[in-house]
Amino acid sequence: MVSTPQYAEVAVPLHVSHTFIYRLTPAVSFLAVVGARILVPLGRNLVTGYIVALHRQLEENSNLAEADIKEAESLLDTVPVCTPEILRITRWVSDYYSSPWGEVIKASLPPGISPAITELLSLTPKGKAELDRTSDEELTLKTSVLTEIAKAREVRKEALAALAPANQLSKTLREVEKSGLIERVQSQTGSYVKTKFRRAVRLLDPACLEPKERSGKLTPAQQRVIEVLSGHLTTPFPALLKAAAVSVSTVVSLEKKGVLEIFDEAIRRDPFGLAKFPDIENYTLTRAQSTVLRTIEEQLTAGSYAAFLLHGVTGSGKTEVYIRAMRAALKLGRSAMMLVPEIALTPVFSRRLRAHFGDQVAIFHSSLQKGERFDEWTRVKNGDARIVIGTRSAVFAPIRNLGLIVVDEEHESTYRQQESPYYNGRDTAIVRAQKESATVVLGSATPSLESFHNARRGKYGYLHLAERIGARPMATARIIDMRDVFARHGGARVFSDELLEAIRETHSRKEQSIILLNRRGYSSFVLCRSCGETIQCPNCDVTLTYHRSERVMICHYCNHREAAPTQCPQCGKKYIYYVGEGTEQLEEMLKKQFPSLRVARIDRDTTSNRQRFEKSLMDFSDGHIDTLVGTQMLAKGHDFPNVTLVGVVSVDAGLALPDFRAAERTFQLITQVAGRAGRGDRPGKVLIQTYHPYHYALRHATAQDYDGFYNEEIRYRQNHSYPPFVALASLLVHGTDLNRVRSEAVELRKELDLANKDRMCRILGPAPAPLARLKGEYRFQLLIKSRSRRQLRTVADAALDSLGNRGINLRSINLEIDPVSIM
Ligand code: ADP
Ligand code: ZN
Repeated sequence: MVSTPQYAEVAVPLHVSHTFIYRLTPAVSFLAVVGARILVPLGRNLVTGYIVALHRQLEENSNLAEADIKEAESLLDTVPVCTPEILRITRWVSDYYSSPWGEVIKASLPPGISPAITELLSLTPKGKAELDRTSDEELTLKTSVLTEIAKAREVRKEALAALAPANQLSKTLREVEKSGLIERVQSQTGSYVKTKFRRAVRLLDPACLEPKERSGKLTPAQQRVIEVLSGHLTTPFPALLKAAAVSVSTVVSLEKKGVLEIFDEAIRRDPFGLAKFPDIENYTLTRAQSTVLRTIEEQLTAGSYAAFLLHGVTGSGKTEVYIRAMRAALKLGRSAMMLVPEIALTPVFSRRLRAHFGDQVAIFHSSLQKGERFDEWTRVKNGDARIVIGTRSAVFAPIRNLGLIVVDEEHESTYRQQESPYYNGRDTAIVRAQKESATVVLGSATPSLESFHNARRGKYGYLHLAERIGARPMATARIIDMRDVFARHGGARVFSDELLEAIRETHSRKEQSIILLNRRGYSSFVLCRSCGETIQCPNCDVTLTYHRSERVMICHYCNHREAAPTQCPQCGKKYIYYVGEGTEQLEEMLKKQFPSLRVARIDRDTTSNRQRFEKSLMDFSDGHIDTLVGTQMLAKGHDFPNVTLVGVVSVDAGLALPDFRAAERTFQLITQVAGRAGRGDRPGKVLIQTYHPYHYALRHATAQDYDGFYNEEIRYRQNHSYPPFVALASLLVHGTDLNRVRSEAVELRKELDLANKDRMCRILGPAPAPLARLKGEYRFQLLIKSRSRRQLRTVADAALDSLGNRGINLRSINLEIDPVSIM
């Protein structure tokens, strides 16, 4: 006898790392499938969880007592929403990044597909009796609450809000619930995204198409209906009424005769809408492109896992290679996925892909509407779309028979999700390719140190496109030494004479310029205007951060502190200042200097308004703006042929960030920027203002020497034990109570030390995080470094476990594995 499963193992999208076991009623048990959503009680709430396993009996060693197991409320799907592949990869993400499995699964699904749960209050019989007993004069909050609930039979708590302040109301509700006068019922409301339907009509009986048949049996109106319907698979109901000029009853009577069928037809919300697609250009590949493509195709044909790093300078034709590789995957009967770092880049790419592959392309990113996201996801799940393009969470697309994953601009930090559930889309892509025997191609003009290191070690195949298409020259980059400018003017200048002159010249040639302020830091740092010296931590070799309130310099890795200097420790001069001009100021200055220059600004403030952002970019692209001022988001992806000058006002803030990746980021930024200038036929020019003209990141970036940079940077990483030579984890303790946060961080350090008896890990901190206070919460940070990734996890997990056992709420501690930035 085949018995149905009695228990479901359920992952819930909450901050808990383990799964829960629920009992299944016979009805649910019959239909339950792994990968389906299920409504389960958790504490006092109902939550939507995901069935990750079904069991016929409790495991032998389970310490669950039968009586403790709750019964699942209801099953939400009879067809799994999670494919086995998605369960496998989300499980890996959950284990590797220590993110709750249920949260990862939730992140893999289109938002809004799970039902909303509402709580309704109703009177118990005891409550009714109580209310009947009370006289109308008793105007207590309790009676008015009971009266209100009685009036509506079932009410939402919010509907009572007018009766009293929230805390008073909650208190009264608790009391009346406790004395059994009311009860709470939770129920799901159905207002979540679903497939959208419309009424449509189709012909059923081909016999009625014969004119002979028709005239005998059908009225003229009915005949018109058939004329309209014939030749189409389906016709929308309203369109039919209009075209045939008939009433609803005419169509209904035909349905009764069995001639046609009225039904609900699923319609697709297409994110491309009525967008126009570019013409596809069928280039003959260059020799370099062909070689690269052949290697990828051979691997696709072999059909096993392999990873490649495609290192190609900007404009070397990587995108063309991606497209052909995807086509090759499709030809082999497999599907393909392409990840891109930013939403702003998707429209360009995805239109190009759509032009090549038509409806086979599905697009995944968070600025689509919920309905569109749901429909795209459904098309992928059903196998209707075999190419997915999207931002990091697209790595969880339920695509089947995956053959190829392309990760474009693999070095971008946006692949890292900076909030729970933590994961890195690029690294998840690699593991997914491994699990599904797919080929993964990481593409970049400036590969991350980790990926290049992996290529050097032979872990990834190395593919190189060393030249631009058509041998177009790269922009020439020049460094402007701001110390000279300072000496020349006897004071600080925001714009050097050289940069101003270049802007003027570019404008007079009717060409465009981009002025970039590299300021992603939140923290200030100290710099000597005379010698360019920044103040470094003696232990960590990162820049100390200036805390204005205490006038102290702090290392955010190890908590080293020193008094803020009044004179430069290097040259003894008193030109100490801390860095920070804003983009707004730059815009003003340029407008004043060049009244005829049309200047616009793009930065975090203006981009919160997407339309304005896009309009500025369009205006710039159409030539209505001469100079665009902005932050580093301007450096990427955009292709403006008429831009021949890019000026970087200060690269120093980026170089001095208290992050071991500061040099790498700066190198990448400048190389990307150089790729923006001179995309058209005229050569481009890049001017970089700095007080650190001899910094290796700048020297190698201006010489366009990736290998030179890599060799120097990798030595620094090795000498100072940073990734890729060690595994890194950060632990962030946060909360609104400074003293509690600080003491928990200290306790965490003690537990880490206990767990690290064999000294396989190096533990740093606690120190205030560089963002010492965020959204009203204080933040302290600890870092763990280890050559053994396993050891690092063991130590971190053990320390967190014992803290948890001591009653400390682990929600106030974020463990981040492989943090992309330590800020
Ligand atoms: P990347 O992605 O490396 O920056 P792209 O793929 O965007 O480079 O190519 C740069 C430009 O060269 C694009 O305008 C593209 O259309 C064009 N291009 C790509 N491959 C070829 C080719 N084989 N022949 C001619 N033009 C090409
Ligand atoms: Zn330090």
